[in-house]
Amino acid sequence: MDLLIKNVSYNNKKLHIFIREGVISQISDNLSDFNMPLYTILDGDDNYIFPMLHNGHTHSPMVLFRGYGDDMGLESWLKNRIWPAEARLSEEDYFWGNRLALLEMIKNGTGFFNEMYMNPRSMVRALDDLPLKALINYPVIDGMDEDRAKVQIRDCSQFIEETNWSARLKGGIALHSVYANSEYSLKWAGKYARERKVPLHIHLAETEQEVFNCRRNHRGRSPVEYLDSLDFFKDNRVYAAHSLWMNERDMEIMGDNDVVAVHNPVSNMKVAAGAFFPYEKLKDKGIPIVIGSDGAASNNNLDLLEEMKIAALMQKHHSGNPGLMTAEEAFSLGSGDIPAGIFGTGTGRIEVGSDADFIIINRKSPSMVPSFNRTSNLVYSASGSDVLHLICGGKVLMENRVVEGEDVILSNARARAEALLT
Ligand SMILES: [Zn+2]
Repeated sequence: MDLLIKNVSYNNKKLHIFIREGVISQISDNLSDFNMPLYTILDGDDNYIFPMLHNGHTHSPMVLFRGYGDDMGLESWLKNRIWPAEARLSEEDYFWGNRLALLEMIKNGTGFFNEMYMNPRSMVRALDDLPLKALINYPVIDGMDEDRAKVQIRDCSQFIEETNWSARLKGGIALHSVYANSEYSLKWAGKYARERKVPLHIHLAETEQEVFNCRRNHRGRSPVEYLDSLDFFKDNRVYAAHSLWMNERDMEIMGDNDVVAVHNPVSNMKVAAGAFFPYEKLKDKGIPIVIGSDGAASNNNLDLLEEMKIAALMQKHHSGNPGLMTAEEAFSLGSGDIPAGIFGTGTGRIEVGSDADFIIINRKSPSMVPSFNRTSNLVYSASGSDVLHLICGGKVLMENRVVEGEDVILSNARARAEALLT
């Protein structure tokens, strides 16, 4: 069904936007320009329209572990809390965990996410009636065991082959890290991705320990150098979550290979990853940068507006330069044409011919008043709860903060988490 969104404010102008087959087909400031016979109307009530948000790195079902094991170091948190809980996850746990994460993302204005978690088929199923755009990466995490890698690789290839991919739903491969993946699986992934033209997603240079151990185990090579020596980056699109503990040489390799650095400021600070994200240096080297929430267990929410604010504050605080990472820059890491181009979700712009992917922000929210600079308000003042409507691929996924079926999702996810963890 065609959709007319009337009365939205874009760059201080009142506009009406007509959407046909998921694409913006007409924009006008005059309602009488629209004379199509049949369409649904959403009244924007002069609220503010922005491009939808993109989450560059997350582990969706970890919403079930929200608040379960806070204030711990990365290693003991993983070993004592997360890994034992993950080992007990059932098919239905994955499914309702995924749906809870999708609901939370929608409620916060996120229309695309780059996923890394077990049981990706359950996510494909969860997306059936909550149709966000997504990159679903099959997780190959062999724990340095080649036999385990071979089993996972077989299933990964099958998943990539069998799934009905589309412009909305894309598939890739997730490797956990240089410390949880064998050389065998890392090499295989680099080669397979090159041949099949699928992207790769990995945690990279998150902690000092990771770099230390990698140098010790792989002839003095840093995690970036080690992956480079395995041709992991070569002619591939690689999304490198964290990208914290890197030297000049590492950043040169990232730049030469157009590796995307995914910044996860809240997770980094929460587990005390200990390094300052080298935003300025990465930017100077032309390395593409996007923002991500990481999993809710180490965040503890999926609110990208909050993530943008914290990213900007962290840069200023650590550098002593208040001009570093402006509100506009922070917003551009998670919304609009930069992430849209990087993840191939469209143009990320509000113009004729673009995919209809946008959020409408409540102008009556106190955090949006006064409105000298709407982007500044959005990054520094607003939160995800100020998003009124989310339109993704021309579909209204949230209208007036209501998402279809949310009560069922909340009660099932709550019951699953309680049965799992108490
Ligand atoms: Zn992660």
